[in-house]
Amino acid sequence: MDTDEFRKFGKIAIDYLANYLDTIRQRTVLPDVEPGYLQKCLPESAPQTGEHWSEIFAELEKFVVPGLTHWHSPSFHAYIPTANSFAGIVGELMMAGIGGITTTWDSNPASVELELKMMDWLVKMLNLPEHFLNTSDGMGGGCIQNSASESTLLALQTAKRRLMDLSKEDTLGQKLVAYTSDQSNSSVEKAALLASIVIRLLPTDTNGCLRGEVLKKSINEDKEKGFVPCCVIATFGTTGICSFDNVEELAEICRSESIWLHIDAAYAGTALVCPEYRYLMRGIDKVDSFNFNPHKWMRVNSDCSALWFKDTTYVEKLTSCEKVGSNPDDIPNIHLWQIPNCRRFRALKLWFVLRIQGVEGLRAHVRKQVGLANYFVELVKSDERFEVCTSNLGVITFRLKGPDGPTKLLLDKIREGRKIFVMPYCHLNKFMIRFVVCSSFTEKPDIDNSWRHIEDLANNIEYSKEEYINPVLRTASMKDEIRRRN
Ligand SMILES: *Cc1c(COP(=O)(O)O)cnc(C)c1O
Repeated sequence: MDTDEFRKFGKIAIDYLANYLDTIRQRTVLPDVEPGYLQKCLPESAPQTGEHWSEIFAELEKFVVPGLTHWHSPSFHAYIPTANSFAGIVGELMMAGIGGITTTWDSNPASVELELKMMDWLVKMLNLPEHFLNTSDGMGGGCIQNSASESTLLALQTAKRRLMDLSKEDTLGQKLVAYTSDQSNSSVEKAALLASIVIRLLPTDTNGCLRGEVLKKSINEDKEKGFVPCCVIATFGTTGICSFDNVEELAEICRSESIWLHIDAAYAGTALVCPEYRYLMRGIDKVDSFNFNPHKWMRVNSDCSALWFKDTTYVEKLTSCEKVGSNPDDIPNIHLWQIPNCRRFRALKLWFVLRIQGVEGLRAHVRKQVGLANYFVELVKSDERFEVCTSNLGVITFRLKGPDGPTKLLLDKIREGRKIFVMPYCHLNKFMIRFVVCSSFTEKPDIDNSWRHIEDLANNIEYSKEEYINPVLRTASMKDEIRRRN
């Protein structure tokens, strides 16, 4: 293929995407395919000789698209928002085309410097502590990671490394323990497994918040058993119900016990762009590391996860080795603040999005989606058969009043219909339907449609009948139940 052919190929691709997004509202959000469907459609091996790109588009449409879950459909209300914006798409394209990869400053000066600058822009936009600025006098700073999961793993490993320095003895033989809440993301537990650290999933209060006294009690018990507390991973906006741990209380304990405090704000961190949500983040000046995903709510296409350290000394100690290159004196060593050797030029797409949106544009986006969620809450409340269980920053849980059976049946019917995509959640021993305003294409009429669909299905449920409560479901644990339905 030459550059002329590339021009045609690329233009067709952009047209394809514009058409896809233009028609996304008309597509059924969940696919109607069986496991293994695509395995049967595609050839066993790669073609011996190259094919024309037009053939790829034809097969994309025929085989791949029918098996897609349309994540950016306005009827997608599952998981958590994942960004898709025109600026983000073009940014991805540009970074693929010119980005190369980056290690030290020498390998790609513009890439390193744009990333340092973008991370500082984010600090200022979210009103994060100044010690996170790459231009601050101290050892603080931040860079872009692949994911919140990797950020948590890196924070945990760094906490471990710091403990080695503090205790001045070999920590390898010690029984290290970390703490998080029972509402935290599964990636936190996974990070602890990868880091070979025992993790306690501490109980939260009725609001899903981890409180200081619970942490303190667990630390004391562990110390008596000979464990060495190493790290606390608090969540700012849990994936389930978007609850907030009490960072101020946790930070106080972490300070007095010399424990690393990491904040996972993967989704809700973006809300800090709005001054009215900053009260939720009291205590942030005392945390050791902070992470959020611009690729969730901040309109930057995946992947783009921002991680800051109050003091980068320990992460550099963790990752420095002889073969790793070095930077000019006045350039922070962001290549040492990550797990991979090389980085993609993600700062480029972040720059595109921040410039196209502006701070006000991002505020408007957060406020619009929270507004739509609040509108959905009003709709649920207007039907007396239903109750709203939680509603925080665009994440809602609701159920039919009374026993769980009818809500389970309703969820099954919604999933069978494939017209809207919602998920189950269990909190305080109640089975709920979890509804999130995810797509940036969602408008008020879409919320009306989703709600009307739910109400219609609820009309056909004889929801007062106790006998629905399936004996199999009744004996299954909540966790199995959630797994089965995911
Ligand atoms: C989505 C989410 C994660 C996982 O994010 P990745 O970037 O996919 O690893 C972690 N924590 C919370 C609170 C989340 O909402």
